[in-house]
Amino acid sequence: MIYLDNAATTKPCAEAVTAVQETMEQCFGNASSLHRMGINAEKVINGARKTLLSVLPEGDVYFTSGATESNNTAIFGIAETYRRTGQRIVTTAMEHPSVANPIDKLAERGFEVVRLSPKDHADFEQALADAVDDKTMMVSCMAVNNETGFKVDVKRLYRLVKRKNEKTMVHIDAVQGFLKVPLDGDFITMSGHKIHSSKGIGALFVRKGARLSPLLYGGGQQKKLRSGTEPVELCAGLAAAVRSYRGNEQRFAELKSHLVELLSGMEGVKLNSDDRCVPNIVNFSIKGVRSEIMLHSLEEQEIYVSSGSACSKGKTSGVLAAFGISDSDADSAIRVSMCADTTEEELDILCENIKKGIERFRR
Ligand code: PMP
Repeated sequence: MIYLDNAATTKPCAEAVTAVQETMEQCFGNASSLHRMGINAEKVINGARKTLLSVLPEGDVYFTSGATESNNTAIFGIAETYRRTGQRIVTTAMEHPSVANPIDKLAERGFEVVRLSPKDHADFEQALADAVDDKTMMVSCMAVNNETGFKVDVKRLYRLVKRKNEKTMVHIDAVQGFLKVPLDGDFITMSGHKIHSSKGIGALFVRKGARLSPLLYGGGQQKKLRSGTEPVELCAGLAAAVRSYRGNEQRFAELKSHLVELLSGMEGVKLNSDDRCVPNIVNFSIKGVRSEIMLHSLEEQEIYVSSGSACSKGKTSGVLAAFGISDSDADSAIRVSMCADTTEEELDILCENIKKGIERFRR
């Protein structure tokens, strides 16, 4: 099996699996209980929070059920808490639906939404900051796009936005960027299953001094921002995955350059991920072969890739248009996303099979 769909989800690492199992067996108390078992569970959660904060700016971390919940909590929470700043939201046309759809909801409620596309701006961070005015309540921008790997310098973005309006809250969906690129923001979304931990766990970073109204009301856990009994074992698993993360930009760059060289020898193959993209995600279009046909033909050889984004199953990805990719190229787009275990040999086998697929299917 050759798994090259790590932007959709990753294989849980041994350290995370062990941490989840051991915590379930030995530390299954409810962190709200006053007795020792509760205190032990709370210690695990606090330790996991500390691990995440060791790779984030100064602030706090709240555990959620995943990135979708973190994004919804941040966006609706900012709209509720900071509405006095104004009604304008600046965001991008490349966001994941878990950001784009909550912002659509806010537009229905009367917020003015400005969406910028990377294809229209050579300096994307500056363009986003330029769109901020004194009524801009929020900027929401992903750190790394899940379909092309396009990278935003969110540290610079944060600086530029705050210089323009210090009251504007900056939300960063860092699902594909966490542990891969430098991060900054008032609110930062992370997901466990994209970094070799399990599904069902994510986190929301809240910068020191920033506030947020909750999305969920209940027992008041996690300083009332996220009610619900904390999944202590999943928190332990997430922290273990962070500690043992082995992704390495230089290694990814070697793998990308190997893949790009192989692809460049194939007629009608066009790269959709340029140098502004992280090296672990490579998106390309194969002229005359629809994505799904190629995907299933590779699957027959137990090679797993994605067509566009795994979240837009069965639909042509609208997000690729934000990068200036035509509908026909989007229709034949394949996304290869790598992890620390990916090898050159696997990419060789992938490309041999893509060649065979082209001969078989090209119209
Ligand atoms: N944001 C980005 C950039 C993503 O890639 C994903 C998952 N594809 C999400 C948010 C949502 O993650 P989840 O479905 O795990 O909640």
